[in-house]
This record gives sequence, structure tokens and C-alpha cells, in this order.
Amino acid sequence: MPSTSPTPSRVTVIGAGVIGLSCAHDLAEAGHEVTVVADHGPGDTVSALAGALWFPYRAEGAEAVLERSLRRFVELATLAESVDTDDPSAGADDFTDDVPPVQMRTGMFHERLDPPDRSWVPPVVSVLGDDAVRPVEGGVRATLPMIMTSRYLAWLMDSCRMSGVAFQWRTVTSLDDLSGSADAVVVAGGLRGGELLGGDDAVAPVRGQVMVFANGDGGEDGPRLIGWTVDSDDPTAMTYVFPREDEIVVGGTAEAGSWDETPDQATAEAILSRAEALVPELKELPILGHGAGLRPTRETVRLERVDGYALPVIAAYGHGGAGVTLSWGTAERVVELVGEAVGVGGRGGLS
Ligand SMILES: Cc1cc2nc3c(=O)[nH]c(=O)nc-3n(C[C@H](O)[C@H](O)[C@H](O)COP(=O)(O)OP(=O)(O)OC[C@H]3O[C@@H](n4cnc5c(N)ncnc54)[C@H](O)[C@@H]3O)c2cc1C
Repeated sequence: MPSTSPTPSRVTVIGAGVIGLSCAHDLAEAGHEVTVVADHGPGDTVSALAGALWFPYRAEGAEAVLERSLRRFVELATLAESVDTDDPSAGADDFTDDVPPVQMRTGMFHERLDPPDRSWVPPVVSVLGDDAVRPVEGGVRATLPMIMTSRYLAWLMDSCRMSGVAFQWRTVTSLDDLSGSADAVVVAGGLRGGELLGGDDAVAPVRGQVMVFANGDGGEDGPRLIGWTVDSDDPTAMTYVFPREDEIVVGGTAEAGSWDETPDQATAEAILSRAEALVPELKELPILGHGAGLRPTRETVRLERVDGYALPVIAAYGHGGAGVTLSWGTAERVVELVGEAVGVGGRGGLS
């Protein structure tokens, strides 16, 4: 359990994507009075577009928070598994409000690069044991957390509210303007995180486009997919198929420097042909829609105190293609940094 602060400090978190909400949650649990200020709600952020498999894709310099993050997702998946959804007294609202939509799912990582990039394996084995990643012909099979993003963000909002987090929906134009109402600020603004800090040339968009299919029921509505599939067929953009409960998210692309958030027809056709070659069952399932978003990619994830403002400022942005993956580890580090800045303790570690 998080340790509580002897004197609560007022902390403003700028951003209501997965990073801002995770930070807000842990700061509130550590005893701070937390207000999230954002001009886009979670459903309208790039976070809502994420697949999301726990996988450190395009997230440089975040090694220190990888294991911490994975541990928390495994805890959440274990909690979700422990809930008896057949219990008639556990209604749909209980499920949405109380149960994190995270499941441990096994899938296949097709490796085409020589040598394959297995830099992600040591933290997984360290947290989940040797059996979590098994070499097989053509790649590895792994069991990793799958985060059902839209439902997960709704759960995270509910969890923040239950922990006492307040929300304001507006644009912040100056950090110094917050000094009267906050003792510390966390900048979790994603791709725009650097704007409030005098600009940041190291952060840039990497566009990703996805398709969403309906998942079948194994009968008349078509095949039901459960396991995930990733193929490193293109070193710059992996093909992936991430089944959730009702939907399947299929990608992907990685266009560095593109600011275009509109899905493109030719790109969709290319994704479809790669994905159907990988998972032929997709041919039998209806397409629900298309999406495109900008990964907030940076040379290294920025997770540090920034000096030169009227109040302590903590930067937490630039999580690239792995913001969901890194979210809880980032939140725990932010609690430590805020605690150091305002002179109180942070999260006491995982139980
Ligand atoms: C196609 C695609 C697939 C992906 N798949 C995965 C995956 O499988 N696994 C994974 O881990 N990651 C994945 N990602 C990456 C992940 O989505 C991002 O790393 C993550 O969402 C970044 O979260 P964030 O909270 O930093 O930023 P965002 O979600 O962009 O949120 C930024 C927030 O800051 C607010 N804000 C910014 N500036 C201001 C301001 N001045 N005033 C007020 N509010 C402000 C915005 O309103 C918003 O609320 C994927 C990304 C894409 C595009």
C-alpha cells in the first residue's frame, strides 16, 4: 500500500491520458490533494487509440520503470481474474467500476530480424518467470498483460475519482500561473508536453494507423480470437493483431514526423493485407472502423524535475509507442520526484 504524506501537498497534473491519470491516481493514493487539468478527456487522447499490449515499443530510456510497470499490470490482471463475473450480485456496473480491464494473454511474436531484438525479454522474465517467454520456431511465445484501453481508461478515471482526484477541463498556457493553486506540477502532456517547458526539439510524432474489427463468438458471428500476434516483418512498423473482448485492434504503421490524424485508405488496405496474411480468421470478421494517432516519441522518455519555475515542476512525457506499458512505473517515479520536491514521502512500494 502507498505510504501517506504527513502534510498533503496540492499537486496539479497536466494531462488526462494514461500517463496523467496514472500519476494522478498514485499521487492521490500517496496522500496529495490532486487536480488533473486537461483540454482533452481520456477518450479523446492518443492513449485511447493504443492496442494495448504491454510491450516496450519505441520507448527509449525507460528501462528503469519497465519492471515496476509490469508488476502493477500483473497485479491488476490478477485482481480482475479473482472477480467472479458469474456472481449475479456483481452487475455490469461493478465490473466496470471495480475491475481493471487487464488480462494476461498469450501470443506469438514472429521474429524476422537477424538477430532478433529481445531486449524486452529480461524484464518480463524477471517479473513473470522463465515460462512467460518461450522460444518457438519463427519467434517466441509470450504471456503478457493485454490492456482493453477504452474500458481501462474509464476504470482509471473512476479510480482517480474514488481516490479524491479533482478534474478541470481547460488549456494550461503557463506553469507559473499555477503557483497560487498548487505546490507542485506534473507535466504529462504527451506530444505537447514540451510546449509548456519552453519547447522541446527532442519530442516528435510517430503516426500510427489502426483498424478495429468485431471479435466473433466462435459461432455464427465468426471466429473468436483470444491470443495476440505481432510480426516484426517491417523493422519500422510491426504488424499486430490484439484481440480484446468485443473488438480486435489491428495495426500498424510508424510514420516519423507525420502530424496527420486522419486514417488513410491506402494505408488501411496495406494493413489489412499484412494482417490477414498473418491471421486469416480476420477475413471472416466485420471491420468496425479505422483510427490514426500520434505517438509522443522522444529521444528518451522525459521523467525528471525541471528547474526555473515558480513552483516545482516534474516532466513526465515522451513515452512513444509504450505509454500504456510504462504508465505505472512512470507514476511511481513521479510520486518519488514530487515527494522529494515538496518534502514528503511517496508510494512505499508494491505490496
Ligand atoms: C496506433 C497506436 C498504437 C499504440 N499501441 C500501444 C500499445 O499497444 N501499448 C502501449 O503501451 N502504447 C501504445 N501506444 C502508445 C500510447 O498510446 C502513448 O504512448 C500514450 O497514449 C501517451 O500517453 P500520454 O498520457 O503521455 O499522452 P496523451 O494520451 O496524448 O495525453 C495527453 C494529455 O495532455 C493534455 N494536454 C497537453 N497539453 C496540455 C495543455 N497545455 N493544457 C491542458 N491539457 C494539455 C491533453 O489534453 C491530454 O489529456 C500506441 C499509440 C498509437 C498511436
